Amino acid sequence: MNESCIFCRIVAGSTPATIVAHNEQALAFRDLHPKAPVHVLVIPRRHVTSLAEATDAAELGAMMVLAADVASAEGLVAGGYRVVTNIGADGGQTVPHLHLHVLGGRSMAWPPG
Ligand code: 5GP
Repeated sequence: MNESCIFCRIVAGSTPATIVAHNEQALAFRDLHPKAPVHVLVIPRRHVTSLAEATDAAELGAMMVLAADVASAEGLVAGGYRVVTNIGADGGQTVPHLHLHVLGGRSMAWPPG
């Protein structure tokens, strides 16, 4: 738990969020500023700054499984969807707590900007 981290505060329940799914190691909640009709963030319960600092394969696996569960529950499987993580300044990361973006409900462009 990092008191100054907004996502750690969501895990702790001290900052509100619309939680849609969880497992032992990961939590999924709706993005405050959605970039697609479905935009859910999947985070590890532990504070990990980004994928660059991640070392726990089981934790990463739990996040990926939860992302797929969310996509299924949100009805995204038939049309397809995107899972992405931003790392550091050049990657466009603004919240320094590892998170997967699960985006769907519209057609995605490639490559991202
Ligand atoms: P990043 O830019 O780091 O890849 O993504 C951070 C995401 O977190 C952004 O899409 C942003 O809208 C979202 N976000 C930032 N603060 C909050 C918050 O307090 N609550 C929720 N639910 N999402 C947030």
